[in-house]
Amino acid sequence: MSKIVVGNFKMNMTLQDVAQYVQYINNINFNPNQNEIILCPSYIYIPYLNNNIKFKVGAQDVSANHMGSYTGEISAMQLKSENVKYSILGHSERRMNFRETENIINKKIRQCVDNNIKPIVCIGESKEERLMMKTEQILRRSILDLFRGFTKEQLSDIIVAYEPIWAIGSGITPTPKEIEETAYYIKDLVRSAYKVDIRVLYGGSINLSDMHKFIGLNNIDGYLIGGASIDVEEFSKIVELIS
Ligand code: PEP
Repeated sequence: MSKIVVGNFKMNMTLQDVAQYVQYINNINFNPNQNEIILCPSYIYIPYLNNNIKFKVGAQDVSANHMGSYTGEISAMQLKSENVKYSILGHSERRMNFRETENIINKKIRQCVDNNIKPIVCIGESKEERLMMKTEQILRRSILDLFRGFTKEQLSDIIVAYEPIWAIGSGITPTPKEIEETAYYIKDLVRSAYKVDIRVLYGGSINLSDMHKFIGLNNIDGYLIGGASIDVEEFSKIVELIS
């Protein structure tokens, strides 16, 4: 089954690094009809990547506003004009560092949907919430708030990335069984609430040496990879492994 692999470069790499990355990764064995690889660099490198790489390119965020006096922000309409077709939204680092709420992320989804950009929406519980057995409650609340106001057709384009906050960058992951069960929970909830089938990715401390645990998981349509996507050799091997 075809997989989606999203690389989140976060605020890493200079133009020179990105150029070297492209040179390396463009030479790997990859069938573009089989899997979807989406690389999300800092905004300023999107045009360079789009012009030079054989993979898809996405943004790491988008403004909740359409246009106007929002210094430093980038709108969905501007991303669309650069031929961007995907954007990560609601990453836990943005929720934590920039106080993004479900309400703000809902507006960002709206901007993306209106501009034909597929949102890759991150949701996940904190360590404390997990210890209190509140994972499903948190995910349910997030989904119902984030998906508010969209048609069935629009919802079917949303990709959800299940990223437990405690797993991001920590080297610790849920067990494969826990990931499968949580992905099932998310899909089932969306199916019964909205009559829509959505794709669910897993993200959090994925690396090459543990990749075998994540390949072939039921209900998982792909992966969101942070740290390991910055290392071009490691990321290339992951892409080759799933191909
Ligand atoms: C992320 O930033 O979305 C992520 C999954 O990071 P990492 O792979 O480094 O845990």
